[in-house]
Amino acid sequence: MSDDRGHVGTTAVWAGEQHDSPNKDVALPIHHSVTFSYEDIDEWFEVAVDQKPGYIYSRNKNPTVRPLELTMRALDGAEEAISFSTGMAAISNTLYTLLAPGDRAVAIKDTYGGTNKIFLEFLPRMRVDVALCDTLDFEAIEAEIRKGCKVLYLETPTNPTLKVVDIARLARVAHEQGATVIVDNTFATPVNQRPLELGADLVVYSATKYLNGHSDAMGGILCGPKPLVDAVFHYREINGATLHANTAYMILRGLKTLELRIQRHNENGQRVAEYLRQHDKVESVFYPGLPDHPNHDIASRQMDGYGGMLSFSLKGDFDQVKRMLPLLRYAHRAASLGSVSTLVGPPRVTSHVELTPEEREAMGIPESLIRYSAGIENAEDLIADLGSALGKL
Ligand SMILES: *Cc1c(COP(=O)(O)O)cnc(C)c1O
Repeated sequence: MSDDRGHVGTTAVWAGEQHDSPNKDVALPIHHSVTFSYEDIDEWFEVAVDQKPGYIYSRNKNPTVRPLELTMRALDGAEEAISFSTGMAAISNTLYTLLAPGDRAVAIKDTYGGTNKIFLEFLPRMRVDVALCDTLDFEAIEAEIRKGCKVLYLETPTNPTLKVVDIARLARVAHEQGATVIVDNTFATPVNQRPLELGADLVVYSATKYLNGHSDAMGGILCGPKPLVDAVFHYREINGATLHANTAYMILRGLKTLELRIQRHNENGQRVAEYLRQHDKVESVFYPGLPDHPNHDIASRQMDGYGGMLSFSLKGDFDQVKRMLPLLRYAHRAASLGSVSTLVGPPRVTSHVELTPEEREAMGIPESLIRYSAGIENAEDLIADLGSALGKL
């Protein structure tokens, strides 16, 4: 990233430190206060109607939460950013702000499980027409967009099979229809991919994953042009899915090491994927950094790194997975991803537990698939650990 923002690593450290504490704190103070007092009633009014900067009530704005938003705004090169209590709050508040009864939304089938529920259950209940397309059939997605739509919703790379979607190509077609393009950038983070530079209008995150990075805080972020983000902020103020100051502090602290961590996640993802691909107990490996990944070329064009997420299937059935996972020493068998420690889980018991084997097969999810969120450990140890577990099968 160039221009006046500075490089990613610099922005991540400094953008949140330009707060004006009277004590000149170097670390951001955590403002627990729910409300903020005014001697001057005229000033209170001016702050209340946004004529003057300031804070009124922490459901709306808070002086610890705001620096996190400013940091994400800078990292994504956006005009504005706001935060939420979780990633799902960011996604649902954004969709519920932009879509009204009678509108049409186009999305890919491989969105995060919670997002998929919004498309399949909650938006249809609001009488929003939803078209879910095959994630890798860009022509079919374009055809659906051309039937007219208000929102195009993408996520890339996807969970759990690391499909890569061409953001620039689909955003162009969506803009011909006047649609708003939303990209969930949770897997890539602004270090590896900046959707706004590729033509997206809005970018959403689960900050619970890489942005915080330590599996100890939940949050969500939305970045984009001020009018759109302000509209979602107006909804969130009333909907109430606000991020707490304590949590904002933790995410902002995590963000300071984002570039360092992602560099290591990228390196570990690549090395583990290459190791697994040549292993005779492994059937297939899904990782955008492998040259035979179906969209390796798109990934190379639109990403600065391939990330720490990968998945692989074992030769044999699900019993092999049940035997292998407990043998790993350097991996938590747990849901979620994007932590400093390696996390593994089979989609069959996590993200895709509610589907039948046939439905998983239709989504290209083998029964013996293992999702692997490579942490920031030393790659040699991760590879030795995998080798030892696979060797015992
Ligand atoms: C986890 C996740 C979400 C939801 O975020 P929460 O913080 O758990 O609400 C959304 N999208 C992606 C890609 C995710 O991995």
